[in-house]
Amino acid sequence: MGLLIYLNGEFVPEEEAKVSVFDHGYLYGDGVFEGIRAYNGLVFRLKQHIDRLYDSAKAINLEIPYTRDKMSQVVCETCRRNNLRDAYIRLVVSRGKGDLGLDPRKCEAPTVVCMASSITLYPQELYKTGLDVITVPTRRNIAEGVNPRIKSLNYLNNIMAKMEAAIAGVEEAILLTQEGYVAECTGDNIFMARDGVVKTPATHLGMLQGVTRDAVIELARKRGIRVEETVLTRYDFFTADECWLTGTAAELIPVVKIDNRVIGDGRPGPIFAALLEDYRELVKDDGAEI
Ligand code: PMP
Repeated sequence: MGLLIYLNGEFVPEEEAKVSVFDHGYLYGDGVFEGIRAYNGLVFRLKQHIDRLYDSAKAINLEIPYTRDKMSQVVCETCRRNNLRDAYIRLVVSRGKGDLGLDPRKCEAPTVVCMASSITLYPQELYKTGLDVITVPTRRNIAEGVNPRIKSLNYLNNIMAKMEAAIAGVEEAILLTQEGYVAECTGDNIFMARDGVVKTPATHLGMLQGVTRDAVIELARKRGIRVEETVLTRYDFFTADECWLTGTAAELIPVVKIDNRVIGDGRPGPIFAALLEDYRELVKDDGAEI
């Protein structure tokens, strides 16, 4: 049986979950979204995801026609209706149906969609062997243009970078800022460890403030590990002892090569391993009940 999709107040079978071709989400990428995960009946850090969704919407002047509570209930109800206790959940709010012009004032009402399905993950093997990634020529969008803090439907910047990684035969791309600082990957944040200190790019440089990123910073500090949110270059990563990515789907995944250069001893390191273990414990009880 197919999925039941939440669409503007109703649950409909996936074949009937249709949106207008005049929707500005479709025509212009005018909208925002969230990728959320549920573990064993608990939606991990649902409040943080809902808050980020509303911040993204506010930043593009899109008024979501639901309270945050109602939106949280939509997420949980979508899981219930699909009998999912472990799920990947996608919430999408677009500007809605308008005309062929750009003017968002012509759009009648936002389109709200929630989908939940079972999750497809990176192959388990990669958590042991680590990823091979490259820095790509495409730079991360500048904050003064489309700010990467906004989780907008406009992912072409990330898709261009993902394509460049695929052409080079590696799994993931690191995007640099306009100035050449390390920003993030196409759908994950990036961390490194050197001499027992954990470092990750500061969000003001222009990147998404990942929910997983925030959780990992908290977990590291709880272990007494110093964490710096700072400005990092390729040099810092080439000379790091460890590197890993964080994201809702990937959780924490190790990186062992950047631009074909070996990071540390070429194997996932002990800080990564400890934090992955902590994270897998955290998701067992840090969530909203479905
Ligand atoms: N950066 C980008 C560009 C992303 O799309 C994502 C995934 N939402 C992340 C980072 C990681 O964020 P999170 O930990 O909230 O999934």
